[in-house]
Amino acid sequence: MVLYSFQLYFLPIYIGTLLLITILYMRRRNREYRQNKAILKAALESGMDQPSSLYPKFNHARCIGCGACIAICPEHPHHKVLGLIDGKSNLITPSECIGHGACKEACPMGAITLVFGTTERGVDIPKTGDDFETDVPGVFIAGELGGSGLIKNAIEKGRLAIESVHRKLPARSGGDPAELDVVIIGAGPAGFSATLSAMQKNIRYATVEQEDAIGGTVVFYPKGKLVMTAPVEYPTVGPVEMRETTREELLEFWSGIERDSGVKINFSECVEKVTRVDSGFEVKTNRSSYRTRSVLLTLGRRGTPRKLEVPGEDLPKVVYRLQDPADFRGKHVLVVGGGDSALEAATSIAAEPGATVAISYRSEAFSRAKEKNRRKAHEAEKAGQLNVLLKSSVTRITQDAVELEQNGKSITLKNEGVIVCAGGVLPTKFIQDIGVTVETKYGTP
Ligand SMILES: Cc1cc2nc3c(=O)[nH]c(=O)nc-3n(C[C@H](O)[C@H](O)[C@H](O)COP(=O)(O)OP(=O)(O)OC[C@H]3O[C@@H](n4cnc5c(N)ncnc54)[C@H](O)[C@@H]3O)c2cc1C
Ligand code: SF4
Repeated sequence: MVLYSFQLYFLPIYIGTLLLITILYMRRRNREYRQNKAILKAALESGMDQPSSLYPKFNHARCIGCGACIAICPEHPHHKVLGLIDGKSNLITPSECIGHGACKEACPMGAITLVFGTTERGVDIPKTGDDFETDVPGVFIAGELGGSGLIKNAIEKGRLAIESVHRKLPARSGGDPAELDVVIIGAGPAGFSATLSAMQKNIRYATVEQEDAIGGTVVFYPKGKLVMTAPVEYPTVGPVEMRETTREELLEFWSGIERDSGVKINFSECVEKVTRVDSGFEVKTNRSSYRTRSVLLTLGRRGTPRKLEVPGEDLPKVVYRLQDPADFRGKHVLVVGGGDSALEAATSIAAEPGATVAISYRSEAFSRAKEKNRRKAHEAEKAGQLNVLLKSSVTRITQDAVELEQNGKSITLKNEGVIVCAGGVLPTKFIQDIGVTVETKYGTP
């Protein structure tokens, strides 16, 4: 190729511009890598290193760093779940991944496998067939507990599971008229949809929910959370074209269906045991007992709230979820726990006029909570709004006080409300006690 003298004259400018663009691009890319590394480090340091459900495992030998998985993630950009580090995609906030699985579909290199659990922490998945029935005939599982996360999937699987229950119900031959066809345990998206479906099919059902409202895990999302979902068919309602909504709108939408459909759910009732009896099962709750021919477990994975197991815990002032901080305005309150929900509860109540708040945690630091929440708690403590009692535990709750033990000393605090945020007891043992086989996955599909 022949270069004319005027072209030669401009050549340094072309090369210079190209160099400048490359340098700027490299600098921006390196800054992004540094930021992502810092986000990952903070997540690991605060113990937020375990995904709760299905999550992507990357094969870095195949990853070309195109970023398609990051761009498609429905949580992005509200939450930075995935990010590039040194040219390869990584899960930078593992506990924020909720298992959409869109990244796998988007990857042009087949570099992503969706898996459950990690080598450090296994995830228990009960064994079920395509018909949702477990290896205990008559016991069915749907929703997140069966490994099928996300609201849309839970709704679909709840409906399909009841179709399967219905198909498999043996013909009634007289017997106990009080015997139900199915007891549905849990009224999250899967259990709610299953209940509507059971009502639509005229199956004799009872639905038991330990909380005081429908919604399951959605109820526990942060206020105003943007919820990503997809169009789905609701039993008794039909197709609903919802893609992006807020926690509040979604819960309101479900309450509307509950009101209008006349569906019956037994709230504030926790199932404690399911036992096999001759013709079916006995389901024992904290309030009642049911005879049923089949059971559908839509328990999700949050589990039942962990109790303190101390005298006085059955007083009505003891709750396991903060509904509205304003309920505690002007009151003496104790929050128990050291995770994000405990710190969020304590700091939000401390901001209420006239509230006196103490937080009791058995460890010496709030090391498992997000930096943002630890900072807020520290600021509230410095401002004299929050009494932080580390290395302490509750020993007794009375009508107007709580007793604690800290470093061998006993403390008594005036008290009008206790909020226990001590995590949940996972449902694995409950399921195994029924006889269902549970597989533990350590980073496998
Ligand atoms: C922070 C966060 C954000 C998320 N964001 C999204 C999102 O944007 N989009 C999306 O699609 N998905 C999202 N998910 C996932 C989604 O919430 C779950 O996949 C879905 O709620 C699963 O529904 P489920 O009915 O199977 O279980 P759950 O919603 O967990 O419901 C289970 C129900 O069973 C009840 N229960 C449990 N044990 C008992 C018992 N012994 N007796 C009586 N009742 C019992 C529980 O109280 C609960 O109400 C998110 C999850 C989290 C944690
Ligand atoms: S889409 Fe695949 S190749 Fe592209 S960054 Fe993500 S994992 Fe790597």
